[in-house]
Amino acid sequence: MRLDRFLCETTDLTRSLAKKALHREEVQVDGEVVKNPATQVDEGRRVSWNGERLALVGLRYVMLHKPAGVECSARRGLYPLVRELIDLPHVERLQTVGRLDVDTTGLVLLTDDGQWSHRVTSPKRRWGKVYRVTLAEPLEGEALAEAVSRFAEGLLLEGEEKPTRPAELEMRSPRVATLTLHEGKYHQVKRMFAAIGHHVEALHRESIGPLTLGELAPGEWRELSEAEVALF
Ligand code: URA
Repeated sequence: MRLDRFLCETTDLTRSLAKKALHREEVQVDGEVVKNPATQVDEGRRVSWNGERLALVGLRYVMLHKPAGVECSARRGLYPLVRELIDLPHVERLQTVGRLDVDTTGLVLLTDDGQWSHRVTSPKRRWGKVYRVTLAEPLEGEALAEAVSRFAEGLLLEGEEKPTRPAELEMRSPRVATLTLHEGKYHQVKRMFAAIGHHVEALHRESIGPLTLGELAPGEWRELSEAEVALF
């Protein structure tokens, strides 16, 4: 990799600031000042900037317990962004793997590995996403039996061309459901319940495939282990 690119990858410098830093003799490779931005720095070379050793970061994989009131988007709008909760260098390179609504809480994955993200979200892989859904009104009796079978068969949501994939619905209590989806359409849980005449009062994602939040409290995050990354 070229030295100027290496500096951009490992610091907050832009390409032109990296060139200026080189020109000001702030950069050393293996203990020698190097000014040429095209210098190749292969693995094993020691690069430092103003005396600080720089190292490339590998791909990163993070799980976050998203609290309500933060947004899973790339640009700041009305609400703080989920990645503002994560204290890692170059956090702006992390993208959420799918999205939760601003008022939804629970498990969010973030990564800078686009292929891994695709493996997690691809409907072909059929990873189940489990949601705890709190309804405004109880869902019981015949209405519940009908909801279970409509969700299992798949229903056509407004504005969609294809019906939803089969989803599993169970009740924990008359107003609290567990819904398992195998895809992620926009506002899907809320729209599915709206289609059967129910309003979702609170929504929380408990798991994605084999990953659950475990002991993570709202607002907390941790990096995934290699074994967890390899699950997908
Ligand atoms: N379905 C929704 O309606 N909202 C979410 O945040 C996630 C799934």
